[in-house]
Amino acid sequence: MPTALRSHRCAAVIGGGPAGLMAAEIIARAGIDVSVFERMPGLGRKLLIAGRGGLNLTHSEPFEQLKAHYGDAAAWMGSRLEAFPPPALIDWCEGLGQKTFVGSSGRIFPQAMKASPLLRAWIKRLEDMNVRFVTRAQWTGWSDGALAFADGTTYPADAAVLALGGASWPRLGSDGSWTRSLPNVEIVPLRPANCGFIADWSPILRMRYAGSPLKRIRLSFGERAVEGEAMMTSQGLEGGAVYALAAPLREAIVRKGAALCHIDLRPDVSLEALAERLAAERGKASLSNFLRKRAGLPPAAIGLIQEALHTGETKPLPELIKSLPVRLTAPFDIARAISTAGGIALSELNAHLMLRRHPGVFAAGEMLDWEAPTGGYLLHGCLATGAAAGHGVVSWLKS
Ligand SMILES: Cc1cc2nc3c(=O)[nH]c(=O)nc-3n(C[C@H](O)[C@H](O)[C@H](O)COP(=O)(O)OP(=O)(O)OC[C@H]3O[C@@H](n4cnc5c(N)ncnc54)[C@H](O)[C@@H]3O)c2cc1C
Repeated sequence: MPTALRSHRCAAVIGGGPAGLMAAEIIARAGIDVSVFERMPGLGRKLLIAGRGGLNLTHSEPFEQLKAHYGDAAAWMGSRLEAFPPPALIDWCEGLGQKTFVGSSGRIFPQAMKASPLLRAWIKRLEDMNVRFVTRAQWTGWSDGALAFADGTTYPADAAVLALGGASWPRLGSDGSWTRSLPNVEIVPLRPANCGFIADWSPILRMRYAGSPLKRIRLSFGERAVEGEAMMTSQGLEGGAVYALAAPLREAIVRKGAALCHIDLRPDVSLEALAERLAAERGKASLSNFLRKRAGLPPAAIGLIQEALHTGETKPLPELIKSLPVRLTAPFDIARAISTAGGIALSELNAHLMLRRHPGVFAAGEMLDWEAPTGGYLLHGCLATGAAAGHGVVSWLKS
């Protein structure tokens, strides 16, 4: 750990994820000494896991549409994204030797479809810029104005960027414990985002179909509907379509104790066409065989229909297939969520992402109070706020 004696200005970044590394890059480019402190033995653990799904970096849709995915924080995030828009992100990635491509859904990925080559090249570039990395260094707060670490050491930086992440997948390093180190800062409670939900299904249904996918469904809640896939688990439902509606579902559960969503199990077939197919005589066929053959439903979807009928659902079968009610009672634990909602209230930050109550201390990434669905918006938001905080440090130290 560095000592307290220095003759020139230096900055510290706490957290070696994408937001922190981007902040360090901007600070180092301005010729300022910067050290990155990371509690884990290695950098970017969550970035590496994000790479397992191909590393969706951002989206190619029009900018206004992209911005809108940040919901309540869209206006705030907009100016950070404008300063680091998708073309800049792509240039940055390709500058690290990782060519990108636009997938059929408009999402942007590195051609390698993983994070390890990008992270390796990034760390090498930062080392070449003299960025210092201190791993196994757990920040705990301040002591006499210096950054304090769990092993009792301190580091008196002239400016610091906190980029400590959210609270999902805590084994990768970000566990939200930083909320205790900022006692006089307003922190919106951390909640799971892009998460699965507990469904009030019978134990038999859960047990029998845990691990069964529901492919090409349309999930709707209130005014919003998304097409995609979901996975039945021993607790309920998770997967892309569920994550896309996770924020309104979660908030409805907070307000009302439960959220009633509906699944269209055959969005590709109209209600009329289904009614026609199911008007045939069932004869001796079991309900399950009848639904499999006439409606083309997989076993898990049939299980859901049967459960609904057993629990008193009276809708005709075609309507049930087109709009199967599922009552969700709670989000899955935050440890299983893809990302975190809540964090440092945006009102605590000035335009340069400096904490109003801690001059010289900036914050970036998932630890701020914004959320977005999957689709590249998370990493883009983290990189853009990391860059903004880095620029904030540069102007603070130069002013
Ligand atoms: C399975 C999975 C897949 C994902 N896929 C994608 C995707 O394809 N596209 C996308 O946009 N997003 C994706 N994400 C989300 C994305 O990875 C995160 O939003 C992003 O990594 C957050 O960046 P961050 O720098 O803010 O925080 P983090 O990446 O969490 O980094 C924070 C760092 O701070 C360190 N730290 C925490 N506390 C301390 C402390 N007290 N002292 C020192 N260090 C500390 C942590 O160890 C960690 O390394 C995925 C997430 C998961 C879990």
